Amino acid sequence: MRHTFLTVVLILFSMTVSAQRAIPRDAKLESKIEKTLAKMTLDEKIGQMLELNLDIMGRYDATGHWKLNETMLDTCISKYKVGSILNAPGTRAATVEQWQEWIRLIQEKSMKYIGIPDIYGLDHNHGVTYTQGGTLFPQPINMAASFNTELVRTGAEITAYESRAANCPWVYNPVVDLGRDPRWPRIWESFGEDAVVNSRMVEAQIKGYQGDDPNHLGPYHVATSTKHYFAYGAPWTGKDRTPVYISPQLLREKYFEPFRAAAMAGTLTMMVNSGSINGVPVHASYEYLTKWLKEDLGWDGMLVTDWADINNLFTREHVAKDKKDAIRIAVNAGIDMSMDPYSVDFCILLKELVQEGKVPMTRIDDAVRRILRVKYRLNLFDQPNTGGKGYEKFGSDEFAEKALRAAEESIVLLKNESLPIPSEGGTLTPLLPLSTDSPLLRRGRGRLLLTGPNANQMRCLHGGWSYTWQGSKAEDLAAKYNTIYEALCNKYGKNNIILEQGVTYKENGRYYEENTPQIDKAVAAAKECDVIIAAIGENSYTETPGNLSDLWLSENQRNLVKALAKTGKPIILVLNEGRPRLIADIEPLAKAVVNTLIPGNYGGDALANLLAGDANFSAKMPYTYPREINSLNNYDYKVSEEVGTMAGAYDYDAKVSLQWPFGYGLSYTTFEYSNLQVDRSTFSADDVLTVTVNVKNTGSRAGKEAVLLYSSDLVASVVPDNKRLRDFTKISLQPGEMKTVTFRLPGKQLAFVGADGRWTLEEGDFLLKVGRLTVPVACTETKVWSTPNL
Ligand code: BGC
Repeated sequence: MRHTFLTVVLILFSMTVSAQRAIPRDAKLESKIEKTLAKMTLDEKIGQMLELNLDIMGRYDATGHWKLNETMLDTCISKYKVGSILNAPGTRAATVEQWQEWIRLIQEKSMKYIGIPDIYGLDHNHGVTYTQGGTLFPQPINMAASFNTELVRTGAEITAYESRAANCPWVYNPVVDLGRDPRWPRIWESFGEDAVVNSRMVEAQIKGYQGDDPNHLGPYHVATSTKHYFAYGAPWTGKDRTPVYISPQLLREKYFEPFRAAAMAGTLTMMVNSGSINGVPVHASYEYLTKWLKEDLGWDGMLVTDWADINNLFTREHVAKDKKDAIRIAVNAGIDMSMDPYSVDFCILLKELVQEGKVPMTRIDDAVRRILRVKYRLNLFDQPNTGGKGYEKFGSDEFAEKALRAAEESIVLLKNESLPIPSEGGTLTPLLPLSTDSPLLRRGRGRLLLTGPNANQMRCLHGGWSYTWQGSKAEDLAAKYNTIYEALCNKYGKNNIILEQGVTYKENGRYYEENTPQIDKAVAAAKECDVIIAAIGENSYTETPGNLSDLWLSENQRNLVKALAKTGKPIILVLNEGRPRLIADIEPLAKAVVNTLIPGNYGGDALANLLAGDANFSAKMPYTYPREINSLNNYDYKVSEEVGTMAGAYDYDAKVSLQWPFGYGLSYTTFEYSNLQVDRSTFSADDVLTVTVNVKNTGSRAGKEAVLLYSSDLVASVVPDNKRLRDFTKISLQPGEMKTVTFRLPGKQLAFVGADGRWTLEEGDFLLKVGRLTVPVACTETKVWSTPNL
């Protein structure tokens, strides 16, 4: 009787707990996890917690081919029981066949020596980075600019399929580090500066990668590692992996939100921010790793460190006295798996720590449970290998077409002025589209000058994490794709394009190094042309090698544009860059500006289609483009960052000086917004507001429009943001067509994090905004949440 009562209590308890879980658990899987765990030795448990770099298990032979050394692999798996391996040898893409062979061998040995499959991880970040012949999509910053969550989901589905074709079950993606600092070298790896955009995109991406059921991933889905948890993108110096100083409100209200969304959407793993927040390295923070993520959200996934980051707790951050101390701190804080690429010390030192009682066995069991859970959810025990038959679509035209469409939807038109066309009696016509039979082009005599360092290179089109870590081997590995030059030749005819770059990057230099400029040559060529396209920006990079010391676009490139402007020929600036480099002195010299961001392998083709008008622009800026070095505001700046001049002797003011705002982007058609309405004039936290707005295509071309819903809290107990994005959607409209867009906005989403760190919704007036329209709405009650999350 007593036993039955206890069972009922336990069941009820576990039901309550699971009701709060980010991912509802599967009881059968949980029981398998327990059985496996019960059979494991301490060595086996600790081995599961280590992830090594494949590089240490092989070497390059005399012909330059990397060969896996089976004896080394045997040692790592049979002696140290290593649970995970990562990376591509030499960070260079391998073939599908190589991956199938290497991972198959790893799985065979793992099953033989440990009886537990390995979980192999790759940075398949915008497509299958490290697998030759697969599909690469535009970088996430472009996917954000599309404001199209369906595209994002499809991209992730294809990457999952192609990763599994290569036998790889785990990708180190999505990235939702808010890109709020234009200096930071990784903002293009995320979905830009806004928390809602990052949250919606991460949900779509997780569905695409993992499928609809995070407990049972099929052979076409992969586990995600949402990274880098969290606030990695906000270093005070703007340089990679340097300290972040941030208010507790901003941390909770904005930086944490996309990770919360990822946990609730079922991301199976997360990777941790290499740096520190307010003096505490995230790898050492029990508060952030265990409390915020695992306890408050009930997230039962696995936390992996970033590259050698436990070591960094003593070598770089100086919060540990040696490696052993660092392991103690990190594992006790909540790290489940250590990416310790080059060493097996972790196994030896962690075992000592357990034997000395400095890391409790309960913590080890918890970590190993989480690791086993991912492996069971991935079905790796039953099917450790995929690939081969059933993956015929790998690298197919069908997938390529999707990547091309994504590129077209992700390139932003920022400026398009009109010019008098002499052959048409001086009628004013927008410079773009520049159709192949445009009267601006006197055909057949090379009338379009293409210039600038980004004009004829694959490397800058697809950025870092493309075939290699820094994206530097693209001219060889992405040779079959079209550069901007090749794509324009295909579109306008080779005879109509003159290529004279004027400025070029040093092939083997650092990303910012340029050769001695030859601006005169470009100017001479321009005199023979009718229109100039200047493809400028940055070369590829990521992480610390991408640090910069000056946000202005390189002087050579700005000088090139200034010299070309003196010819009086109309200039189209084509920006191709990972972050918004300042161009305030050359932007006025251009009649049109197009921002390709980092559009991937099909970026050249997409650009040619858009310039010629064979496709229409529909992207909008996913971050604020600054105009001045000391005006690095975000779109949701505090109201007091922008105030007019005060009367009297002390004429204080504050200015926000933007080149282009977040959410800005033009189209070849025009859209008119009307009739913005909200179904209620007052609300409280539990109400849902229904907001409707009519959007009409008033131009003569079909187009897509991203519709963005903002709110402003007019008075609050902490200085309010001037506005906040609350929701968005993207619609297609034929000329003359009108659609009514409906948003459902929960009242509690208008809360902010107060000075006491608690979510707060205050009585008072709000404005809802779509386009230039606004509608007032009032909150009738003040509510302060006692829970850490809404
Ligand atoms: C990067 C991560 C990446 C990891 C594994 C680190 O240097 O910060 O984004 O996933 O390496 O390659």
